Order: sequence, then structure tokens, then C-alpha cells
Amino acid sequence: MTSITQNLQAVQHAIAQAAHTAERDPQKIKLLAVSKAFSTAAIREAYEAGQRLFGENYVQEALPKIEALSDLSIQWHFIGPIQSNKTRAIAKNFSWVHSVDSLKIAERLSAQRPDNLPPLNMCIQINTSGELSKSGINMEQVSELARAIAQLPRIKLRGLMTIPAFAASLEMQRIPFSQLREIKDSINTQGLTLDTLSMGMTHDLHAAVLEGATMVRVGTGIFGERHF
Ligand SMILES: *Cc1c(COP(=O)(O)O)cnc(C)c1O
Repeated sequence: MTSITQNLQAVQHAIAQAAHTAERDPQKIKLLAVSKAFSTAAIREAYEAGQRLFGENYVQEALPKIEALSDLSIQWHFIGPIQSNKTRAIAKNFSWVHSVDSLKIAERLSAQRPDNLPPLNMCIQINTSGELSKSGINMEQVSELARAIAQLPRIKLRGLMTIPAFAASLEMQRIPFSQLREIKDSINTQGLTLDTLSMGMTHDLHAAVLEGATMVRVGTGIFGERHF
């Protein structure tokens, strides 16, 4: 067994354990393998071990990998910062985008989503830590943005995403994740039907699952340390 295969099993096991603790159905928690900085060979190994959802952060890095792996049925997720001049490539090559934080970007993605593809699945990235250096919109602005995005014709608004500030303890890690869940629930009381909380990475996936994550984004835990 390769180490990627073993790592994948360990991450699946960690998700199942957290789900058990939270009395949640582990099937409701999808694993997104974050393959930035890793080769197509590493992605193939994970695929052969059963992994189907992969996430990339940089359009320029992702496009040749998507092309080289087009023989596999991978569902590609874009999770990195979005520049306006990259929206067309994202709209054309990805099934999901997790990192939208403005109506302008969402409108471009809707307008540029090819007609022969299903609507682009979208999450709004929220800055739960208030750090100015982090992308994502403030918690106060999210419900207005969600209502506007939900109107776009070629977009399916699925939910919310966050990358919290680093926290060492489980209790501190849970705070931003519980905030994200509360925001989602409050938006859904206003008539939307968000079903996705994209939260939790290698070091905080346990806390994220306890707080209701439906998709965890794991890179290091599957592929090892990144060396850019
Ligand atoms: C890199 C990255 C991840 C994965 O982080 P790990 O700590 O390696 O698990 C998850 N989400 C986003 C948005 C990332 O950029």
C-alpha cells in the first residue's frame, strides 16, 4: 500500500471518528483532497485509492493537471483566491468554486459558465477571524451577498467556506466553525437552501466535523508536507 493510500484511510478514519463523537452520519461529510503543489502521479494514486474530489488553489497550476488527468472522473474544486482575469478558466474547468467573496466575481463566473455544463456550484468565503490579511467577506455582509448570488442563472449557491486563523486548542478551533454554521442556518431561515459548510483542514478537521462541516479540505494529511 502506498503512503498516500494509507494517509487517505487515516483521514477517512479521523472523519468517521469525529462524526461518531458528534453523532453525525459520516456519509454526510465529503473529503476534498487538496492537491496543490503535488504531481499528477500523486493525484492518480489518490484516485486509485478511491478519492474523487480534488481541490486546487492556482489556475495556472491546475489547468495542465486537469488536462493531464482528463481520463479520470475527477470532480475539480477551485479553492484559491480569484482574480477577475481567471474567472473564465475557472468557469470552464471546475465543478465547484469555494472562494467567492464578491458579487462581481460571482457574476463573471455565471456569465462565463459554458452552456453545456451544469450550473457551477459555489460557496461564499467568509473571513471569520477578522484578520485584514485574509480574503473572504465579513460576517455582516454575507446574507445580502448570498441572496444576490442565489439569483444568478448559471450558479448553484451551495454554502459557506472559511479558513480560520490558526488556533491550537480544540475549543478555540470550534468557535469560527460554529459561527459559520450559525450564519448558514440564519441565511436558510431567509428562504435559501444552503447545504454545504466547507470547513476544516488537516489540523482542525475534528473541530470542523463537530461543528457540522459537510466538506473538509485536506492537503498535508493526504499528500504530505508541501515544498513550494
Ligand atoms: C492548502 C489549503 C487547504 C489544505 O490545507 P492542509 O493544511 O494542507 O490540509 C485547505 N483549504 C484551502 C483553501 C487551502 O488553500
